[in-house]
Amino acid sequence: PQKSMIDIFEEVAAARPDAPAIHYFHDTISYGTLNEWADRFSSLLAENGVGKGDRVAVYTQNNPHFLIVVYGAWKRGAIVVPLNPMFKEKELKYHLNDSAAKVLVALDSLYEQFGRSVVPNTQVQVVVTCHESDFVSDISAVPMLEKTRKLPVTDTIDMITTLSEIQVDAVGRDRVAVEPGDIALLVYTSGTTGQPKGAMNLHSNLAFNAEVYQRWMQLEENDKVLGIAPLFHITGIVAHMCVAPLAGIPIVLLHRFDPEAVLNFTEKWQPTMTVGSITAYIALMNTPSAAIRNFRSMVKCYSGGAPIPPSIVENFQKKMGPYIHNVYGLTESNSPLTAAPFGVAAPVDKASGALSVGVPIPNCEVRILALEDPNKEAGVGEEGQLAAKGPMIFAGYWNKPEATEKAFHDGFFLTGDVAVMDENGYLYIVDRKKDMIIVSGFKVWPREVEDVLYQHPAVKEAAVVGVPDPYRGETVKAFVSIKDEYLGNVMAEEIKQFCKERLAAYKYPRMVEILDQIPKTTSGKFLRRELRDRTVNQ
Ligand code: ATP
Repeated sequence: PQKSMIDIFEEVAAARPDAPAIHYFHDTISYGTLNEWADRFSSLLAENGVGKGDRVAVYTQNNPHFLIVVYGAWKRGAIVVPLNPMFKEKELKYHLNDSAAKVLVALDSLYEQFGRSVVPNTQVQVVVTCHESDFVSDISAVPMLEKTRKLPVTDTIDMITTLSEIQVDAVGRDRVAVEPGDIALLVYTSGTTGQPKGAMNLHSNLAFNAEVYQRWMQLEENDKVLGIAPLFHITGIVAHMCVAPLAGIPIVLLHRFDPEAVLNFTEKWQPTMTVGSITAYIALMNTPSAAIRNFRSMVKCYSGGAPIPPSIVENFQKKMGPYIHNVYGLTESNSPLTAAPFGVAAPVDKASGALSVGVPIPNCEVRILALEDPNKEAGVGEEGQLAAKGPMIFAGYWNKPEATEKAFHDGFFLTGDVAVMDENGYLYIVDRKKDMIIVSGFKVWPREVEDVLYQHPAVKEAAVVGVPDPYRGETVKAFVSIKDEYLGNVMAEEIKQFCKERLAAYKYPRMVEILDQIPKTTSGKFLRRELRDRTVNQ
């Protein structure tokens, strides 16, 4: 029988209270201290009648407070709603109202800027603020945090307090029993394809996938997690926050993704494993100071969340040392569904040039459903929609029974991704079903075109979309950003020509636009909808 994530955390905290749980810039926080803070927060929740199933929203960066809130809320059996710190008023209001959160914990600067005006229009009854100085002994030694002003808490709302000032009392120590089948989190899909929906992720889902990571990455007591994925995203939650206590190891956290800080503190703390978006790896290797010595300890590197161009894996290995393993997953599957086990280089499909996302993780049953008829399965080497079933699949969307029903077929979760399985059982993600471009009746998958663009030495990042075309229906358009050393020397026309020589006439991008930066979500995905709209509105 499985345990809930809070049982797993409390066991480590009790058995090894002095073991490091978090390295935050220059400071270290032990499992015992983290647990004390979580007890304190849990006590506040108890006093305010927050219990099983109530929603507690957390609006902060990748800092120790995030973990305190999650563990403290879980001690009460509450459901945590992680919020993206990039949210402004409108998004904050949507997520607080959709989840009907009773409690909001926010970094004080975020609360002052965006939370204060929103909270009166929500069901939030308790606001708790926190500040970086709680865990950073010398803020002036961390340039990234220097600007985080400590704000006086002056508010008219009934219940506002500061995390560091909560008094522990007996109530908070009354732990609520949490079952593996209880909802642990509402993780909102990032909305790259529509209105964000809250995925109900269970304690058993999280514990199962954290254990898969532990086994597949062969995590042992000398390992350390490098937390480069955002903690509000499923990758950060499972591959950083849940994996660490399961293996009894620490996480290196750095407030937010900043390539220089990641390189410096990786050298300092010597973490060994991470899971991050491919755009994070691209940013790291293109940082001028980046060198092999920065990543010497980082042997277990994984990337997920978006297609990985094989040329990036190759270049990263040359420049930084480690091989980037592929992992494929979604918010609804609590991240990993398929992966390349540690030490295994996933094959590259010769015909399409795609890097395999590995094989299904244990207990994950997959089906590839024929695109024209989901009641039929596609054969080996044939494209179809990937569907999956198993202990990692979520319990449905919060308050959205219709969307939940549509997301399943015959008990299998529909990923919305088109995939192919080869004769050895390796899976390849062709692309997202909804990103398919139809040019004069021919199918074009952005991923294939992007893989070619990344082979051009000057291309830093590339995103391909379909834009309306009066003759062809749609035409392929590429957006690229250029590496610093090539700036000013590479023309869009040259990149177009490069692709034309390597792709069929209907596939190569007839339009290439160079941008300083390609817009992306905080979890590192390109905002294709924004790119498409940008062209249409030009
Ligand atoms: P929304 O569903 O609102 O667009 P989202 O894109 O943020 O939100 P996630 O659950 O974060 O949703 O992302 C899951 C998607 O990311 C998958 O459906 C797939 O398209 C893509 N993906 C994840 N891992 C990989 C991978 N290794 N290779 C290719 N694509 C991947």
